Amino acid sequence: MSNKKALITGISGQDGAYLSKYLLKKGYQVFGGIRQNASGSPWRLNELGIENDVTLLPFEMLEENNINHVIRTHRFNEIYNLAAQSFVGNSYSNPIFTSNVNALGVARILEAVRHFSKTTKVYQASTSEMFGNSSSKKQNETTLLQPISPYSVSKLYSHWMINLYRDAYDLFCCSGILFNHESPLRGKEFVTKKIITDLARVRYNSLSHLSLGNIYSKRDWGYAGDYVEAMWLMLQQRKADDFVISSGKTYTVKDFINKAAKYYGFDLKWQGKGLSEKAIDKKTNKIIIKIDKKYFRPTEVNHLYGDSSKARKILNWSPKTNINELIKKMCDYELEKYK
Ligand code: NDP
Ligand code: GDP
Repeated sequence: MSNKKALITGISGQDGAYLSKYLLKKGYQVFGGIRQNASGSPWRLNELGIENDVTLLPFEMLEENNINHVIRTHRFNEIYNLAAQSFVGNSYSNPIFTSNVNALGVARILEAVRHFSKTTKVYQASTSEMFGNSSSKKQNETTLLQPISPYSVSKLYSHWMINLYRDAYDLFCCSGILFNHESPLRGKEFVTKKIITDLARVRYNSLSHLSLGNIYSKRDWGYAGDYVEAMWLMLQQRKADDFVISSGKTYTVKDFINKAAKYYGFDLKWQGKGLSEKAIDKKTNKIIIKIDKKYFRPTEVNHLYGDSSKARKILNWSPKTNINELIKKMCDYELEKYK
């Protein structure tokens, strides 16, 4: 067992919850950063039954003094920076806030580590969104980064700051370039959770149909519970480095809908094109899915497909949960609410 101290920023988010559970199992003393205006115990920690096993600390990515104080006082062995304005859709309406949290927030953490706790290892939550509309069929650590949303531009800044602090100041800091990862605890604004929650509501007659945007973009979806292990592994290496973490499979949003709908017992038939496209349940003849232009984004990443062979080789990491198992976990969690 370890007697290490770790700080997880963004502990109230999806990954924060799974990573806390993972580190607690390894014997870590887990500290969690939560925003100062957050009230009560973060619900995802309750869901995993670990709310009393972590120490919560006020932590605001916008507040330099707060960050300095926390890092100087505790001198953690490891910091996992998961805090972010993490929703691409929201970043178009809040580009300044997104940049302040996701980009400058990371500079604040790195400066605090450099000045007050130089041996602390830092993990940064980078993202496959940074690849933008890459011409590479599969994306890995050498693929050109061409971000096309305020979110991914902000994450590109922090990604390069991690590289810079590693080279210039010899800090042990790593970026995990994680492809989309989901779970029952995923935020409800993300497409997988929205599909699974709303299809259950349609199934149990509390919603007439589900409205979506672009169903032809492709994503490489994995399970968050598997991906947090890779974060930890990165900080246990002799040398700090960046790694792509992905499932190595890619599906359209429409594929994801078809799989989830089938699990819930719908038999979907698709009709029409563009904004008129819809899915009808053959059993009841009811419209289940409609397309709504309000969910389209000003710019769209069309195709994400990760090559995580470097992580598989150096970290000895591989995903354990495939997309069907992921969908089952998410649907079963939702169905439990209706029992
Ligand atoms: P979530 O959105 O579930 O969690 C984000 C966390 O950041 C929440 O705890 C949130 O707190 C916190 N946060 C937001 N703003 C601030 C702030 N100003 N100060 C302090 N804390 C703040 O994200 P995930 O867990 O899904 O993702 C974790 C990280 O990984 C994020 O950085 C995300 O961008 C990145 N990432 C995620 C991927 C995914 O598919 N999940 C893919 C690639 C990267 P609160 O609860 O108060 O809102
Ligand atoms: P992202 O890859 O980080 O942007 O994760 P999301 O889950 O937010 O979106 C994944 C894909 O689903 C993107 O291509 C979105 O444009 C697409 N999508 C289609 N309809 C919706 C919707 O209603 N909500 C969200 N969040 N995404 C949608």
